[in-house]
Amino acid sequence: MIKEYHAPPTLAEALAIKERLGDAAVFLAGGTEVNSAAFPSAPAHVISLQHLALTSIQPTATDLVIGACCTIQQIVDSPAVPDTIKAAAGHIFNRNIRNMATIGGQLGSNKSCSNLLPILVALDAAVDLADPAGTHAIPALEYIAGERKELITHVRIPTSALARRAAVERYARTANDISILTAAVSLTRAGENVVSPAIAAGGVAKHVIRLEPVERELDRKPLPKRDALERLVATHVAPITDIRGTAEFKQHIAGVLVAKALLRAYRDGGR
Ligand SMILES: Cc1cc2nc3c(=O)[nH]c(=O)nc-3n(C[C@H](O)[C@H](O)[C@H](O)COP(=O)(O)OP(=O)(O)OC[C@H]3O[C@@H](n4cnc5c(N)ncnc54)[C@H](O)[C@@H]3O)c2cc1C
Repeated sequence: MIKEYHAPPTLAEALAIKERLGDAAVFLAGGTEVNSAAFPSAPAHVISLQHLALTSIQPTATDLVIGACCTIQQIVDSPAVPDTIKAAAGHIFNRNIRNMATIGGQLGSNKSCSNLLPILVALDAAVDLADPAGTHAIPALEYIAGERKELITHVRIPTSALARRAAVERYARTANDISILTAAVSLTRAGENVVSPAIAAGGVAKHVIRLEPVERELDRKPLPKRDALERLVATHVAPITDIRGTAEFKQHIAGVLVAKALLRAYRDGGR
């Protein structure tokens, strides 16, 4: 049970409280996870991020910079955010959750079936991490794979990656349900050839992963036909059987989603 709620007015104070309390405290953004009965730890202290002014969405010369406390609905509504990222954010059900849940909370909760993490990974996003010594950026995939817990202040998506063709897909039992599998791709096209594809999948491993062997197989060649793509992806993912589906079912659907996303990005840029 939460014993104490901290609402520091500055980043420095938030970091000082975290340093003092260690694992007894967790950062609190929208609270959709921290305040849910299913939250894995029962923190004695929560450190609210609401006063840290991390809610702007700012295009710069090099990146689209999204504050960690931007809500998912803010991302859906922002004119600065490209359509593919909006589509991924819009897959998060439902509007009540989107109004509270934040992009920093997506990364912090690090769910395998997240709707937003695959497109961040496919677009080479980085996260700004703050500690008492200062701020530094690391790839979003490194944060996810490392199960890291540092405070994220901003998410940066390179402008160069935003110029690539991209698409997202998801599979859920109903439109109003958490996704079972998610996929996002980005690529450049040179004539008939796919160039430097980036493919991320969720729901097939403990965390969202990048399918690098598939990327290498597709690079600098025309895109194979749909059936071949589905088979290629299915041989490179090893999901587990659980309440959401059998390993074989997830392998098949992962192939379908990635193939669909690749074909959309290749043919019409993802629209
Ligand atoms: C009913 C329900 C439905 C959901 N549906 C979906 C869905 O359809 N798709 C989907 O992808 N997700 C879904 N989620 C998951 C959840 O909404 C997201 O993961 C959300 O983005 C969490 O954001 P938050 O701001 O509420 O995080 P919080 O609950 O505040 O925090 C979650 C975790 O992230 C950490 N954290 C928060 N902000 C930061 C930060 N800036 N830096 C470092 N760590 C941080 C916290 O310490 C905590 O460990 C659902 C959750 C619920 C409860």
